[in-house]
Amino acid sequence: MNLLFETSREGHGCSILPPCDVPVTSLPETELRRKELRLPQLAEVDISRHYSALERRAHGVNNGFYPLGSCTMKYNPKINDEMAALPGFAGIHPLQPAHTVQGCLEVLATAEQYLCEITGMDAMTFQPAAGAHGELTGLLLIKAYHQSRGDTGRTKIIVPDAAHGTNPASAAMAGFTVVNVPSNDKGCVDLEKLRAAVGPDTAGLMLTNPNTVGIFDEAILEITKIVHDAGGLNYYDGANLNAVMGVVRPGDMGFDVIHLNLHKTFSTPHGGGGPGSGPVGCKQLLADFLPLYYAKKAGDGYAFVQPAQSVGSVKAFYGNFLVVVRALAYLFTLGGDGVREAAQNAVLNANYLREKLKDTYEVAFDGICMHEFVLTLEKLKKEQDVSALDVAKTLLDHGIHPPTMYFPLIVHEALMVEPTETESRETLDAAAEIFRSVYEQALRDPQSLHDAPTTAPVRRPDEVAAARNPRLRYQF
Ligand SMILES: *Cc1c(COP(=O)(O)O)cnc(C)c1O
Repeated sequence: MNLLFETSREGHGCSILPPCDVPVTSLPETELRRKELRLPQLAEVDISRHYSALERRAHGVNNGFYPLGSCTMKYNPKINDEMAALPGFAGIHPLQPAHTVQGCLEVLATAEQYLCEITGMDAMTFQPAAGAHGELTGLLLIKAYHQSRGDTGRTKIIVPDAAHGTNPASAAMAGFTVVNVPSNDKGCVDLEKLRAAVGPDTAGLMLTNPNTVGIFDEAILEITKIVHDAGGLNYYDGANLNAVMGVVRPGDMGFDVIHLNLHKTFSTPHGGGGPGSGPVGCKQLLADFLPLYYAKKAGDGYAFVQPAQSVGSVKAFYGNFLVVVRALAYLFTLGGDGVREAAQNAVLNANYLREKLKDTYEVAFDGICMHEFVLTLEKLKKEQDVSALDVAKTLLDHGIHPPTMYFPLIVHEALMVEPTETESRETLDAAAEIFRSVYEQALRDPQSLHDAPTTAPVRRPDEVAAARNPRLRYQF
């Protein structure tokens, strides 16, 4: 497919600009561009077709089932985008005085109130731009807290091995040493190993819950108590809140700080790089350290305040504000009961599909799961030389986006399946049928799975080369 630069033809174009209604002044000579700006010249219709063609080459939630574990690729109601497109939200400038954007500050303060209610926290910042960015921010709060008490020996963050991959990375970025704690055979934190790991050097623990094998840790109260008793704080990776929102609250389970992924659970389409939002909620003991630009009720209106011992800005201005607008519209639509029902259906759908598949595929951990489950294709790999990758690529030919592959790392030949609550029983039945037929195909004709996909525009890209040598610039 040609790039826009390659489709460009001299003289084609479409500038529809209104007449200038301000005085024209020219820039000083030194500030002027010396070379022509090389922008593609295209008619609007060609641009529109280009992007539509691009869209057809990808698989999105609008094309079919998208059970990409840990990503919560659910359908996002269009009304939320309509709300975010309202000119009063979409057309503002970040430097506008607060009294001219009171409605926007109210959105931030109201979203904070709702999400604190859902998570059991006392305060929340919307500055972080994504989940991992929220993790870093939350860890900076933990660090600032210990430092403010002169407790400088707390340099370690405990991360169980069933945590999301970003957890240890964020802890390292925040300057902590990462201490790994293994899981037991149920996929939960090994309590004895945790007890042995905590001490006067423990700054805190990061728990992904439900964890990356889709399991709600049954000893969660015990875990947070062990860490608190050792003087550490508890961080809840709440990117998987889709499974528990409206049912249980991390703040009631001994957690001091949490991040959410609004672009997963709270209705912003994601994939392709953003924009996202990873708000960080915390208990009162950390609220003074929150980043700058904290929207707060002040008299009859709202104002931005600076928390007394703020860790500073973690992003320009106020975060990805329109993602927060979508989240609030979603919360208004669902209401308290709807939030709980969404979580219950997410869990029901995952268990329904797991039950339908468990006689064909091997499920990595037995028993009821939360919003996702993990299959292991180790046996198929050994006996038929068909890998998780081969199965994933074959599913593409059947109109299903592959589940997450080779993650979590503690399961070999893993496929992590997350159906989400927005899929109907009919969709799940049809998907189960396809999963099963792919398995039979692997037993009958393994080679055909090595050749898949045959219908996708790109067959098997060299993923290592794409990651190591990305071509990010167009060479004229
Ligand atoms: C997606 C995810 C993250 C990271 O979120 P990003 O927005 O991709 O940075 C962290 N933890 C868990 C459990 C996740 O599923």
